[in-house]
Amino acid sequence: MTDFAWTRDQFDLPEGMIYLNGNSLGPMPKASVPAMTRFLNDEWRTELIKGWNTKNWFMQTNTLGDRVGAMIGAPAGTTVVGDTLSIKVFQAVAAGMALVPDRKVILSDNGNFPTDLYMVEGLMKLKDAGHELRTPDPEDVMDGITEEVGVVMITEVDYRTGRRHDMKAIIDKAHSVGAVVVWDLAHSAGAVPVDVAGCDTDFAIGCTYKYLNGGPGAPAFIHVAERLLDRVEPVLSGWYGHEAPFAFDTDYRPMPNKIERMRIGTPSIASFVLLEGALDIWDKVDMNDLHAKSIELSELFIQEVEARCPGLTLVSPRDPQARGSHVSFAFEHGYAAMQALIAANVIGDFRAPNVMRFGITPLFTTEDDIRAAVDTLETILKEERYKEEQFQKRSLVT
Ligand SMILES: *Cc1c(COP(=O)(O)O)cnc(C)c1O
Repeated sequence: MTDFAWTRDQFDLPEGMIYLNGNSLGPMPKASVPAMTRFLNDEWRTELIKGWNTKNWFMQTNTLGDRVGAMIGAPAGTTVVGDTLSIKVFQAVAAGMALVPDRKVILSDNGNFPTDLYMVEGLMKLKDAGHELRTPDPEDVMDGITEEVGVVMITEVDYRTGRRHDMKAIIDKAHSVGAVVVWDLAHSAGAVPVDVAGCDTDFAIGCTYKYLNGGPGAPAFIHVAERLLDRVEPVLSGWYGHEAPFAFDTDYRPMPNKIERMRIGTPSIASFVLLEGALDIWDKVDMNDLHAKSIELSELFIQEVEARCPGLTLVSPRDPQARGSHVSFAFEHGYAAMQALIAANVIGDFRAPNVMRFGITPLFTTEDDIRAAVDTLETILKEERYKEEQFQKRSLVT
């Protein structure tokens, strides 16, 4: 059994704060400070350029990729970390399009995170080859998978409602019509059990600063099915994906049959240090234990909010198996109420037009936290504190 008291103790949360936003930015592990100090003193300062060899900086894309991969059911050698998720969307969808050159339809849904859709728009414009992006309602995705479709690009867990797509069913249907699948795990990795190899996805991508707690701007990841590694097109053909980066050839030759071909260029090693520290905690966590605990805490949260906070309407699926690990409520004064909550040191966030979103993260959140958070929310609603002038102003980031 995972020891959640131990995992909680690994994080340095500010005194008195109840943090229900680990779905957006995970908190800092205590180990981050010594790890970063060690990196600065014993790696960058002392090793300088030698560090690429002596400290294995050059292959951390892969060693950390394998560790993230293990959390999503990817075999070793099929996942690398680096860049940002928006870039990974571009890279994976472009590679998917190259696998089915005769098909012009890319299928997503209108609940997808906008950057995924924006990146595909930019990609289609760049290719200028008559592609079309379809975004039906999430419930209609299965019906939209037809023989016209080349790439199915789906985010498993909806960033607003937490609604979870049926990964296996979508992939099976896509494959049955000859389409390839890009699966976005931004709100799944570290939140729910995922088995990319078991579901036989073609591509999986995601970020490590949300549930994985890698820190702001932590690297993204990309997984490519083993069966595609010899022919997947590295559209962002940077030198890190070259067969022999240090041959400095003027022509690009992708690394044959290896995930290295999805690497692009020099990554931030400092951010790798932070990710590594976070993954050390995940080594001690069983994903099924985590999921069970997430459901327990989420059910408690929903029950308490519905009993004590009139005016808030659950917009997440009621069936815990159909949810990721965040819970959202619609509320007319959602933005201001969230600002009032944050001022009272209960941190969630807001998504337009009216969604109050709460991340449920068992690594550091307890039942007492959940009850105390609802106490605070109840008081804010009773006293109509969300009407105060100070909570009306919209910040740059919500
Ligand atoms: C968080 C998130 C992103 C963010 O992309 P970045 O490039 O890391 O800013 C993209 N897609 C989804 C589905 C997300 O949830």
